Amino acid sequence: MLPIICQKHCGFAVKAADMQAGTDIIAVSGRRDLPSGFIGRHMRKQALERLREVFGYGEFRGHQADIIDQVARGGDALVLMPTGGGKSLCYQIPGLLRPGLTVVVSPLIALMDDQVATLNELGLTAAALNSTLDEQGQRDVANSLRRGELDFLYMAPERLLKPRTLQFLQTLNIALFAIDEAHCVSQWGHDFRPEYLQLGQLAELFPGIPRMALTATADERTRQEIIQRLKLEQAACFVSGFDRPNIFYRIVPKDRPRQQLISFLAQHKGNAGIVYCLSRKKVEDTAHWLSEQGFPALPYHAGLAAELRAANQKRFLNEEGLIMVATIAFGMGIDKSNVRFVAHMDLPKSIEAYYQETGRAGRDGLPADAWMAYGLQDVLTLNQFMANSDGDERHKRIERHKLDAMLALCEITTCRRKSLLSYFGDHLEDHCGHCDNCIDPVSTWDGSEAARMALSTIYRSGQRYGVGHLVDILLGRDNDKIRTAGHQHLSTYGIGKQLAEQEWRSVFRQLIARGLAEIDLDGFGSLRLTDACRPLLRGEESLALRKDVARSAPVPGKYADKPVIADADRPLWEALRALRKRLAESHGVPPYVIFPDSTLVDMLRQRPASLQDMGLVSGIGSHKLERYGADFLQVMLGDGDGAQATKELDQSRDVQSLALAGMDAQQIARQLNQPVKQVYLQLAQAISTGQIELHQAIDLPPMQLQRIQDAFLNEAEENLPGVKTLAKQLDEPVEEGVLHCIRAALILEISG
Ligand code: ADP
Ligand code: ZN
Repeated sequence: MLPIICQKHCGFAVKAADMQAGTDIIAVSGRRDLPSGFIGRHMRKQALERLREVFGYGEFRGHQADIIDQVARGGDALVLMPTGGGKSLCYQIPGLLRPGLTVVVSPLIALMDDQVATLNELGLTAAALNSTLDEQGQRDVANSLRRGELDFLYMAPERLLKPRTLQFLQTLNIALFAIDEAHCVSQWGHDFRPEYLQLGQLAELFPGIPRMALTATADERTRQEIIQRLKLEQAACFVSGFDRPNIFYRIVPKDRPRQQLISFLAQHKGNAGIVYCLSRKKVEDTAHWLSEQGFPALPYHAGLAAELRAANQKRFLNEEGLIMVATIAFGMGIDKSNVRFVAHMDLPKSIEAYYQETGRAGRDGLPADAWMAYGLQDVLTLNQFMANSDGDERHKRIERHKLDAMLALCEITTCRRKSLLSYFGDHLEDHCGHCDNCIDPVSTWDGSEAARMALSTIYRSGQRYGVGHLVDILLGRDNDKIRTAGHQHLSTYGIGKQLAEQEWRSVFRQLIARGLAEIDLDGFGSLRLTDACRPLLRGEESLALRKDVARSAPVPGKYADKPVIADADRPLWEALRALRKRLAESHGVPPYVIFPDSTLVDMLRQRPASLQDMGLVSGIGSHKLERYGADFLQVMLGDGDGAQATKELDQSRDVQSLALAGMDAQQIARQLNQPVKQVYLQLAQAISTGQIELHQAIDLPPMQLQRIQDAFLNEAEENLPGVKTLAKQLDEPVEEGVLHCIRAALILEISG
């Protein structure tokens, strides 16, 4: 039998003997018709290689390896993974392992360019087909597709579903379809996109081509809808838990909300974040006020002119440390990975909404804060919204239940995360130790008597008054409203003077949150009793209430365990960010496309002192190492601490001068007593900055050099393949270091 050759990139030859006995299929890898044990091992090895070389990460997370395996072998998959879990890799790596084009369907045209830029920065070939391209641009993309030059193509569903597009795609070699934000097919969700319903066609039009659906929203009903609508009955389903362990949750009763917000934000100086408000007016007022207080903030809501909205969004994505004050209109399009906090100035209408909105923080996996101030007034406002909305009764009832659950989460005295996750059916064994209730345990008091007073006041005043008036009665206040209603004669008038106004408000909030009283839908905020309060009123039950101690003063409180950056590292951190920003500007991409914060943080942690070390930093694959390694190294070394760093810099100067003096890499390595590999990297760096020329670094026969250069340029010019990838494509063995130098010279040449 012939050996089997994987034809996509790796050139990995496998002896027939490795295959199961009796099988005589000769095929490229990634097809269903290879015995699974063999492909499994082969695929997994290659997937890990791609992860390390292209993406610069050491290991897969969670289900990533299994998902990639499933799809790379040609199967369908449904992937439910929380935000920041790493969904993109789940289609990007199979896309690299399977021959042909990976089509990514995404509803967010605004994000496609960033996604394409991110892939290009990794040295991969990608393009987006969307309305922002002019005709010539579209023709160029189509031509590259015809020539098979692209690894990835991003499209909105409406574009994909045009008969012309579908016909065109059928003439191409398609590796797989990835349908991102797949919950958009759900008619129940607020992100519903009718075009998504049509995506089921892909199953018939492209039989045998794997399809995967990915989403972070994953209640059971949505999941079923995705499977049914997208015809994924055969798909393997990968469900990750909902937990976002890096997010710290804190919920405080609203008191002086602006002061509370400021004292929260004071711990996030220089960080980017989102502040959600319920109304447009409040968005504008808050943004204005924050800016006055020295916190750079921009407003965002659906009532702003489209250009202004787009401009604000762009600034938020591109600049560091901006605060976006927004209604929930600002949301799904946010791919910024280093949002360090999400603050809610008002109560979200459901736990789903809360989870989704807070989930925009910390996509990069670094510590992030979810903070909220809420009060009963929010419940009233939301109730009014609901009463005025035009859903049917059943729908309104569901919404009310959702709001009740949200309120209960606010008033709960035990671990927030545990309760949040259990709402989604996820079970957390222990307390999380990473939420407000866990780190400063709530003390409770026996509120039975106070609760009875409050409930009888509601009852005796006719279940027609809101909290403000009820508290006035309990405190025995004398005002017009009391007199007009004759409430100074009620038996509960003035019986509650042992508690302060804030304490009474807290009692009422908790009664509502526990379902012992409810807010009437009349729109005036009147409270009513519920059946559930009877045992308490009859003295058959007691009630423990949470103590909202010292909440009246806006205390800073503790948040995420430790700041992402230690104070001592600040200057270096700022220097790294400044370099990243410069590079981002010159490439016309947002900073996090160059490197996510997590990479800079890892750089601070690892302190790379050579290019080789730099290559070990999380998120630095071979392409980025070549492009940016030297620049970032310079900043790291410029830090001036440590003799090692200085030595490295000296060595790199020595390497240059020895090369200029005519020594080859082997000789330099011996002379300086360094690994050859490192010498080559330093030579490549010197080439990329124009300090030496290619022929001064390597010595290859001209024909061979030509062959290698052609191989590099085989694909699109602006996207040379990585060195490891190329090494496998070449028929002849060439040292990687040599390839690094050739590649550096080509890039310098191309970029002029
Ligand atoms: P999602 O789409 O699920 O919100 P992303 O795909 O944007 O998440 O990934 C979030 C971040 O985690 C990105 O910066 C990504 O590069 C990083 N990441 C993904 N997988 C890994 C991994 N295996 N190791 C380290 N970082 C990873
Ligand atoms: Zn907790």
